[in-house]
Order: sequence, then structure tokens, then C-alpha cells
Amino acid sequence: MKKIFILLLLPILLYSCTREKFEAKSENRFLMGTVCILTLYNGESREIFEGAFEIIEKEDLLMSLQKGNSELSMINRKAGIEAVTVSEDTYQVVETSIYYSRMTDGAFDPTIAPLVELWGIGADFSGRVPSLESINSMKALTDYRKVEFSGTNTLYLLEKGMKIDLGGIAKGYIADKVKEYLLIQGVERAIINLGGNIIVMGSKPDLQPWKIGIQDPFDTRGNHIGIAEVQDKTIVTSGIYERFFYEDGKRYHHILDPVTGYPVENDLASVTIISDKSIDADALSTSLFVLGVEKGLNLINMMDDSEAVFVTKDKKVLYSSGADEVFSLYHKDYSLITPDEYLAR
Ligand code: ADP
Ligand code: MG
Repeated sequence: MKKIFILLLLPILLYSCTREKFEAKSENRFLMGTVCILTLYNGESREIFEGAFEIIEKEDLLMSLQKGNSELSMINRKAGIEAVTVSEDTYQVVETSIYYSRMTDGAFDPTIAPLVELWGIGADFSGRVPSLESINSMKALTDYRKVEFSGTNTLYLLEKGMKIDLGGIAKGYIADKVKEYLLIQGVERAIINLGGNIIVMGSKPDLQPWKIGIQDPFDTRGNHIGIAEVQDKTIVTSGIYERFFYEDGKRYHHILDPVTGYPVENDLASVTIISDKSIDADALSTSLFVLGVEKGLNLINMMDDSEAVFVTKDKKVLYSSGADEVFSLYHKDYSLITPDEYLAR
């Protein structure tokens, strides 16, 4: 009788032990103009959450275009005047952003800030189309080749009026920083979500991969077209649905084409990158969105550690060469097509 009792009790005991050990704790904070959610699965404590949010705040204070006292604003103010020495962090993000500008032949261009400000893309979108004249004059200031790297952590924008915006890359870098911090604190399983810029650390407590949904660009937040099953990866999406306004029935969103000075006009609704480092995934999602399917696929297929999922406005889904191993589409309104089928359309 006693034996049976113990045997019956054992699974319950084991179950409660595992539950206790891996209970998730989540905290939200509104930072960098977006909702940042940290979910920690072990080793969590008040101090660790605080430390992580402090990192986000500190980094944003260095790299924000909107904050007048950021290091980035200092570089921008000194455009055409003098070189500015900044922190290793800011320098590294600007350097990486220019690396992606070169790689994409200027489709990704952080010197797009004058256009970003003209369109009012920031905390709140201005909601009107600027004049062609003003677009052209701001476009003339957009040129990543005019960022000079001179000496240790020193940057110079060659023309007066030039400005850098790290909105397409900084969140990724900051997410990487938070991950680095959490690892040092002994946290092995966590989800870092900085406004949709996601890093999953480790695997789920049951050792299965994390399941991360990819947003349906045409539905309300939280409705997904499919899921990525990953561990120790980052997932970043750029899309037309994040920030936009309508004028005369036409939709204007927040990713700009440096060639036209207008929001990118192609057949894409979103691009998701699955990769190892969030700074790369962030820069690549914006880059591939601007490049479009054909050029975007060529670029991503040259990279070993990154995959992409493209979603078109007519609800077709395209994968980079290894994306089928991590992503599965389940939404019945969407259909998968191959790059060849896409090109033949
Ligand atoms: P989100 O900020 O919504 O996560 P992205 O990572 O795609 O989306 O970044 C979009 C932001 O990048 C814009 O809000 C703007 O600040 C900046 N940006 C817009 N167009 C470009 C571009 N062609 N190259 C680099 N940055 C851009
Ligand atoms: Mg980006």
C-alpha cells in the first residue's frame, strides 16, 4: 500500500519540481518608443530585469535620433563641421550599418535621416506627403559614402545637413547586448522582445525549440501566418504594417527607398530574417525589404547563417534556401511559391 502511494506521488512530485524550476517571469517596459518584453526562465531576479532594462535605456541614449543629447545627435550636429569621437558601441553600430550599405549598394542607408525626419517617421508619423521639392533636397543629403571613419571611434559626416538614423539596425544591436548581459548573469533560457525584434536564448525548458509566430501583415497583432521553430536564434521582421498613414487612399509606410525618397514601392508586405546575431537580422530585414524578392534572395542565399521568409502583398510566401527547415506556414490564405515560380509570374 505504502509503495503504491509513493509510486502514485512520484509523477506529481517530479511535475511540480520541473514547474518550480522553470517558471517563467516576464516584465514589460516602454523604451526606445516601443514595448520591450523580457521573459526569463531561470535565474531570474529583480536585479537582472533592472540591469537588462538599464542596458536598453543606456544604449538608446547613445543612439537615438530623436534625443537631442545622444551621441548620434552630436555626430549629426557636427556634420560638415568636425569629426566627433563616440563610444565603442555607437561607433560599432554606425560601422556595421555602413557595411550593410555597401553590401546592398545603398538600399540600406543610415544617412537617410533627413528623409526620415521630413516624412515625420518617428514617435508619430506626420501623416502627410511632403512636397517633391523637399523630398529631392533631403534625398541629396542621403549618401553613405560620405561617412568618414577617422581614427579611433571617430566619425565625420562630410556635408552640412547630413544626418544618420540607426532606426533600422540599433534595436538588433541592443537586443544582442541584452543577451550578452543575461548570459553573464547565468540566464540560459529567455526571450528578449524589443518591439518585435526577438532573440530566443537556449531551448524551451522541455528542451524543445521555441515556437515564434510570424505576424500576418494583413491582420491584427498576434495573428500569425506560420511559426519558426528555433533555439539560440534571432527573428526580426520588417513590414509595411508597422507604421504608416493613408493619403488619398494610398498607404505610406516607414521604410524609405533612398533612390526615390519615397516609401519603398514593391510587391512585399514583410520580410522576416532568422539568424544568429540580431544586429545582422535587423539590418538584413530592412535591407531585403528595400531590395525586393529577387535581389534579396540573391543576397541572403550567399549567407550561411541567415534565412529569410518573404511575404508578398498578394499573400505568396517565399523562402531562402534553408528557411523550410525552420519555418512552417500554416495560414490557409497564404501559399508557398518557389523563386522560379515567382520569377515566371
Ligand atoms: P522597425 O523599426 O519597425 O522595427 P525596421 O528595422 O525595418 O523596422 O527599420 C525601419 C526604420 O529604419 C525606419 O523607421 C527608419 O528609421 C529607418 N529606415 C527607413 N528606411 C531605411 C533605409 N532605406 N535604410 C536604412 N534605414 C532606414
Ligand atoms: Mg531593421
